[in-house]
Amino acid sequence: GGKYYSMMVRTVIPGGKLTSAQLLAELDLCDDVGNTTLRFTTRQGIQLHGILKGDLKRYIAAVNAVQLTTLAACGDVARNMMCSPIPKKDAVYDAMQQLAADLKEHFKPQTGAYHELWITDSATGEKTRAGGGPTLRTSGIKDGDAIEPIYGATYLPRKFKMGVGLPGDNAADLYSQDIGFLAITEGSGQEERVVGYNLLVGGGFGRTPSAAKTFAAVAQPLCYCPAGEEIAAAEAVMKVQRDFGDRTDRKTARLKYLVHNWGLEKFKAKVEEYAGRDLAAPLPVLVNEHNDGMGWHEQGDGRWYYGLNVENGRVKDEGTFRLKSALREIGTTLAPELRITPHQGVIFCDIEPQDRTKLEAILKAHGVPLTEEVSIARRWSMACPAMPTCGLAITESERALPGILDQLDTVLAELGLQDEPFTTRMTGCPNGCARPYNSDIGLVGRAKEKYTLFLGGSRLGHRLNWIYKDMVLADEVAATLGRVFAHFKAERQPNEPFGDFCDRVGKDALLAACEA
Ligand code: SF4
Repeated sequence: GGKYYSMMVRTVIPGGKLTSAQLLAELDLCDDVGNTTLRFTTRQGIQLHGILKGDLKRYIAAVNAVQLTTLAACGDVARNMMCSPIPKKDAVYDAMQQLAADLKEHFKPQTGAYHELWITDSATGEKTRAGGGPTLRTSGIKDGDAIEPIYGATYLPRKFKMGVGLPGDNAADLYSQDIGFLAITEGSGQEERVVGYNLLVGGGFGRTPSAAKTFAAVAQPLCYCPAGEEIAAAEAVMKVQRDFGDRTDRKTARLKYLVHNWGLEKFKAKVEEYAGRDLAAPLPVLVNEHNDGMGWHEQGDGRWYYGLNVENGRVKDEGTFRLKSALREIGTTLAPELRITPHQGVIFCDIEPQDRTKLEAILKAHGVPLTEEVSIARRWSMACPAMPTCGLAITESERALPGILDQLDTVLAELGLQDEPFTTRMTGCPNGCARPYNSDIGLVGRAKEKYTLFLGGSRLGHRLNWIYKDMVLADEVAATLGRVFAHFKAERQPNEPFGDFCDRVGKDALLAACEA
C-alpha cells in the first residue's frame, strides 16, 4: 500500500554547455532513479521524469557532484540562461556564451537553504558546496534582503527568462524571453567583436484561455547597452518587475503584463531610475537568421562540430532506436564537449577530423538517424512533453507530433516542398512550453484530440502567429496544412518563407482559398 509521489526534476545548464562526464552522470541517474529516459528541454536544460520522492535527495546530490545544479531551474527566479549554442571558436560566440554564464552567476539565488536541504552530507552533517558559492548563513536571518540582494525577501512575482543571441543567429528565441540580449557587433571576419547589446523586454508565451486578460507577447527593444553595462541594466529591469509586477494574480504576473500596462516609455523611465542613469535608444537592428547548428561544421580551429537532431529532445533506448546507448558510447570513447540546442538537439564539439566517421558509425550502429536523414520539417519541429508526464496537458503532444510529421512529410513531398525550412511547434495546453506562438506553424492542445492551429509566425521568431483554425482534429492537421502549402506553392513570392506568406496573405484570404 502507501502512496508514491513521483516528480520531474530539471537541471540548469547555461547555454546548454556540458561535458560528456556530466551527461553520462545524468544518463546513469535516469536509469537509477528516473523513468529510464531523459529529455533535452526547450531551454537547453535536462529533465528527468518519474523520480520518486524518496530518491530525490540522492538525485540532487548526484547532480551537484558533477558540478551541475537544479537550483533555480524552476521557481520565481531567473531560469536557465539560453544562448546560441554554436561552438564556433570566435570572439563573437565566445562573448555571447560568456555573457550567458555571467548572467546565470549574477542572478543565482544566494540562499544557503538549497544546499542545506539537499546537499548536506548526512554522515558527517557537513555541508558540501559543489561549484563554490556563498558562505552558508543559517541562523539569525530576519530580512531576506540580507541574503538576496536582487530578489529580496519575496523573490519575483513570477518566473523570469533570459537568452543571448545575434541578429544572424536567433537560436535562443530572444523575442520569447523576459529579457533578450541581442548582440551588436562591429568589424567582419576575424575582426568581428561584440560592442554591446540591445535589450528586448517583455516576451512570454504562457496563456490561460479562460482568462481573456492573458496573452502571448514578443519582446520589444528597450535600450542599447555598451558591452559591460548589460548586466546592470538587466538587473534594473528585473528589480522593476520585482517591485511593480503583479503579485495579486499569478496569471498576469509576468513582466510582459507590466510592460503592456505601463507602455514601453514609462517602463523605460522606471528602469532608468533604478539603474541610476539614462539608457540609450535601441539600435535599429533586426534578427535575420536562426542557426540550429545541425550537421557537420568546421568550428574555426581545425576541429569539427556535429549537430544531431533529437526528436523532441527525448533520449531513450526503444526497440532498434538506441540513442541513450549511443550517447554513452560517444561519451566514454570520444568524450566531446556537448551543447544542448534550443530546438532540443545536441551538438558534439571539438571532433578531430579523423573521428568524424567514428562518431557517425556509433550513431548508425545504434539505429539513430543522422540529421541529414531527418526531414527538414521534423528537424525544425518541437513538442512539449504533455501526456503522460505533465499534469496540465489537455492533449497529446510529444507522442502525437511524430505521426503528424510523417503525414506532413508525405504532403510536402507530393508538392515538392520538402526542402522548405519552417518551424512547427506543438504543445498539449496553452501554457506554451514549446514556444508555439511565434513559429511558422503552432499547434496548441484545445480539447480531447483537438488543436488550435496557428499560422503566420516565423522561423526567426520575431513575430507572433495568429489563430488560423480552432478545434482541428489531430487526424486532420496534415490535410489542413496541405491545403495551405498548396496555396503557398502557387502564390508565394520568390523565396518567400511559409510563415511570411501566411502573414502577408492574412487569415481571411487564406481561409477563403483553402477552406471554402
Ligand atoms: Fe504541460 Fe502545457 Fe507545458 Fe505542454 S505546454 S508541458 S502540456 S504545461
